[in-house]
Amino acid sequence: MDKEGRKDETVELARRRGFLWQAFEIYGGAAGFYDYGPLGALLKRRIEDKWRDFYRREGFFEIETTTVAPREIFEASGHLESFADQAVVCTHCKSFFRVGENVRVGVNCPECGGELEAAGEFNLMFQTRIGVSKGERDERAGKKSEGYLRPETAQGIFANFQRLLRFNRDKLPFGVMQIGKAYRNEISPRQSLIRLREFTLAEVEVFVDPDEKKKHPRFEDVKGRTLRMVPGDGEEEEKSVGEVVSSGIIANEYLGYHIARVNEFLESIGIPRAKIRFRQHHRDEMAHYAQDCWDAEFLSDRYGWMEIVGVADRGDYDLSSHASLSSVDMSVHAESAKIIPHVIEPSYGIDRIIYALLESAFYEEQVGTENRRVLRFKREIAPIQAAVFPLLNRDELKLKAREVFQMLRDASFIVEYDDSGSIGRRYRRQDEIGTPYCITIDYETLDNDTVTVRERDTMKQVRVPIGKLEEVLV
Ligand code: AMP
Repeated sequence: MDKEGRKDETVELARRRGFLWQAFEIYGGAAGFYDYGPLGALLKRRIEDKWRDFYRREGFFEIETTTVAPREIFEASGHLESFADQAVVCTHCKSFFRVGENVRVGVNCPECGGELEAAGEFNLMFQTRIGVSKGERDERAGKKSEGYLRPETAQGIFANFQRLLRFNRDKLPFGVMQIGKAYRNEISPRQSLIRLREFTLAEVEVFVDPDEKKKHPRFEDVKGRTLRMVPGDGEEEEKSVGEVVSSGIIANEYLGYHIARVNEFLESIGIPRAKIRFRQHHRDEMAHYAQDCWDAEFLSDRYGWMEIVGVADRGDYDLSSHASLSSVDMSVHAESAKIIPHVIEPSYGIDRIIYALLESAFYEEQVGTENRRVLRFKREIAPIQAAVFPLLNRDELKLKAREVFQMLRDASFIVEYDDSGSIGRRYRRQDEIGTPYCITIDYETLDNDTVTVRERDTMKQVRVPIGKLEEVLV
């Protein structure tokens, strides 16, 4: 439910049709934890694969690092000291809330209307113990065994910097990507996929010589693209990436280039252009590691503008801190000197992107006397690529339909077979989960090996030879 008491239709459909379930529901659920059901897991994989492919084409390599890390990592990264949110607590119902735009001391409790009072600052990291130790009794052993679940995947990349540099034959620039779970013990996670305590990040760290940050070798490709931009101290405006960089609002071409690429990726998976903007952080909201930061925001019908990707210029913050705490040299021999590389980081929240896709793909219309609900996913990300139906419940049609179904499966398509209920019903079921094509086998199929292919959005049907189906579906 939102503030006006409206049910979230998107999340409701996602739950009913097997995209998304509250985790541990049998025990009443735990706030901030969601599981992906079969369709959600397929959708998520397809988005992640497109993302991998997108950045692999930049020449970046992917690594996979651990989700638990020892204390030193977050001491160096600054998360132990600075990764905290302010909380308020309701004096009446005792609920905690994160201090944000609409919740603070002075307003009433969103749950019960009671009075809110300041409850101090909470570090958002989950702490754990690594191995067995006497813990609290022996402070040194205690510190040694102190571990944390990572709040971002980036630190795993920074901690491997020297090896990655060597892997790249000691040359800059290079980019490293990682997709994986991140954990934040959020104070009041009440909005389905938007504020989770365990979520998936897809992050890229681009290491670049600070003297070369101003010029990106492929800036020409993106500089003419216009984006909706909200500079830190200005009004929202459509501007070309080239303009924003040359006027100094974005400080360097590297950051500008990656902002443009983030926009390209979001549009390529089907987030409508009209619902994307880039907002620059104000000095006082910037993360402790950032020199400059832009959020790609999605305009949600329910929640308004919300961050889905953060693009930060982290400068040399992380490598310098790790160098000083670990005493390991993180510098690189550049042409004239030894330098510490700077880092440009696009950081995608996959779950929020999934929310954005579900919300913007959801569409309802009246067809005759029926209400048709559709998820208009792009076909590259739809969890099921096609459904195969026999027109009637007859053995010879079912047999042929199963044959076509198996043929498509063997060609690595993700397909469903359905012979239950009327054909109209079967179409509606597929529309609701966003399947772009429904293939129907009828008596004509038995004569001439053609089938009807019905397209989800237009509901138009065309006759296609079975031999051409694979071409239609890709
Ligand atoms: P940040 O490091 O805070 O800029 O986060 C990077 C991205 O992770 C954001 O753009 C969000 O899409 C996503 N994100 C951050 N916190 C959460 C959360 N609690 N639940 C889900 N996604 C999140």
